[in-house]
Amino acid sequence: MTFRTRFAPSPTGPLHLGHAYSALIAAQEARAHGGEFLLRIEDIDQSRSRTHWEDQIYDDLAWLGLSWPRPVMRQSERTKAYARAVAQLTDAGLTYPCICRRADIEAAAGAPQEGVPQFGPDGRIYPGTCRARVFPESQDHAIRLNMAKAVEGLTELSFVEKGALFAGAHRLDAARLVETIGDIILVRKGMAASYHLAVVVDDAEQGITQVTRGADLWEATQIHVLLQRLLGLSTPDYHHHDLIRDDAGKRLAKRDDARAIATYRADGATPEDVIEMVGLTP
Ligand code: GLU
Repeated sequence: MTFRTRFAPSPTGPLHLGHAYSALIAAQEARAHGGEFLLRIEDIDQSRSRTHWEDQIYDDLAWLGLSWPRPVMRQSERTKAYARAVAQLTDAGLTYPCICRRADIEAAAGAPQEGVPQFGPDGRIYPGTCRARVFPESQDHAIRLNMAKAVEGLTELSFVEKGALFAGAHRLDAARLVETIGDIILVRKGMAASYHLAVVVDDAEQGITQVTRGADLWEATQIHVLLQRLLGLSTPDYHHHDLIRDDAGKRLAKRDDARAIATYRADGATPEDVIEMVGLTP
């Protein structure tokens, strides 16, 4: 099987050094394996995505010396594929509509109890309010996965991590998925899919054999491996790399314009300078 990995940025701000690091690692791995490096534009959140940021992504990555096959997959063009995946889960009886607003969820969550996790990789663990609630279908709603049902009878859920931080085979525990992640959102109100659903459907469609991305997404990987199983998709290997931090040790954010690749470019840096800045060799 051809080794295939990807870089999947969201066009919601300028790429910074952390993105350069991630893209360069993915491209270097592809080269080392004689495989392919793909780019995917994760513009599922149309309210935050901007075309000029997408153009800047192409420009910055090309400037860094990277190339990728075209046309590039863009999530905004994949609505039908996401709808098919949701229908598959719904037909299996694993989803339910949810009309809760953030404030409703906060209110229903109640006081924290010792030893009971409140937050997971999908945010606040959903208290289950809508699981048995009946309301008109026309009402604006999100769609959630019924986690307890989803994991029923599932065995041997596992994936292989290639990165040094968490290297090895990792087995998922069904009871812990219910307790520490809960009923995740599959479709957000006003959006075609949640990040989790889209990333799983797209990695499969692109034939990704290794997902290369930052360690901030490590916990979310459990969700992705579960969704792959439920949708009958194969699980790729994973490589979660360390994160580039600022001088204060804080993870770089899109808002952090000072670390934007475009800022270094404007200041006269060469691609080699940026590659060295993130600790890689050109
Ligand atoms: N689009 C995500 C981001 O920009 C990355 C998704 C992934 O690599 O799985 O943080």
